[in-house]
Amino acid sequence: MTKTTPLPPHDWPEFQPGWVWLCGAGPGDAGLLTLHGLNALQQADVIVYDALVNADILGWAKPEAERIFAGKRGGQVSAKQQNISQMLVELAQAGKRVLRLKGGDPFVFGRGAEEGQTLADAGVPFRILPGISAGIGGLAYAGIPVTHGAMNQSVTFVSGHDAKGAVSPLNWQAISDGSPVLVLYMAMKHIARISIALQAAGRPAGEPVAVVSGASTADQRVLTTTLDNVVADIETHAMTAPAIICIGPVVGLRKILK
Ligand code: SAH
Repeated sequence: MTKTTPLPPHDWPEFQPGWVWLCGAGPGDAGLLTLHGLNALQQADVIVYDALVNADILGWAKPEAERIFAGKRGGQVSAKQQNISQMLVELAQAGKRVLRLKGGDPFVFGRGAEEGQTLADAGVPFRILPGISAGIGGLAYAGIPVTHGAMNQSVTFVSGHDAKGAVSPLNWQAISDGSPVLVLYMAMKHIARISIALQAAGRPAGEPVAVVSGASTADQRVLTTTLDNVVADIETHAMTAPAIICIGPVVGLRKILK
């Protein structure tokens, strides 16, 4: 028997048949799912979930709920993404309560926007349930705050590659000049080029860098290094995706806050 976690008293929304809810599951630790996410799980007929969603969370769904894995890793997406969006449309049109469960936050490098556009085009009603993004909550589990009042008044979230998997065609000079703290998603593949681009733009070779893999999961690993050593250290310490890379002075706060 699956034990259902009771929700605290609140006017929880009812999941209507024929709707899709696009929900963030957080970066890893199941406890980082929101209560809206739990409410959704307890009502969904079908759950379409990504590779980075914690298995415990799936266990909180109705036992009879259908679970469909829609994982994709490493940037090869486009054809499959269309299929996933189309599947959401078809499931909703078949009258199901469709929960689309994604790692982190659905609107942060998560293709939640693209799926929402397809649903809107097809006239399928949907709701967005935000989640805790790896680039904020995941870094917090490594003791790294994305801001500190005395260190940075801005932070920039960057995707390491574009929709086709190539290194992001960004103005690295402007990013470097404009933001003391950079949080890189999906950047393991192109970190060598990014590190060179940032140093060419004037960021110091010795600037602190953290690589946090499997953030907030049982497999979390944290590497702290510098901009000129990050590539070699990733190799030496066999750091693997999924990882968030944080560049900037806030990395040093880990010593105290971890
Ligand atoms: N929507 C997600 C991001 C999806 S893109 C979010 O808001 O967090 C996938 C990238 O997210 C990965 O390549 C990695 O950079 C990052 N990521 C997701 N989960 C992570 C985790 N537990 N630890 C480290 N990085 C993670």
